[in-house]
Amino acid sequence: MSSPYVSVELRRLVALRADYLCEYCLIPEADVLRNQVDHIISVKHGGATTADNLCYACIFCNLQ
Ligand SMILES: [Zn+2]
Repeated sequence: MSSPYVSVELRRLVALRADYLCEYCLIPEADVLRNQVDHIISVKHGGATTADNLCYACIFCNLQ
């Protein structure tokens, strides 16, 4: 099973790719609390901690 830990480099890559917007609701990071890197398929469901399984999400979308 892949580790859920997202490295600083991977976090930066995902944030840059998303242009620092939440990829679900497009809220800019500055308007909310710091956006988070979210696993699209969770680690417990077999998702990997790789760039193609990560997206940038605000706290509101991440909690859903
Ligand atoms: Zn959002």
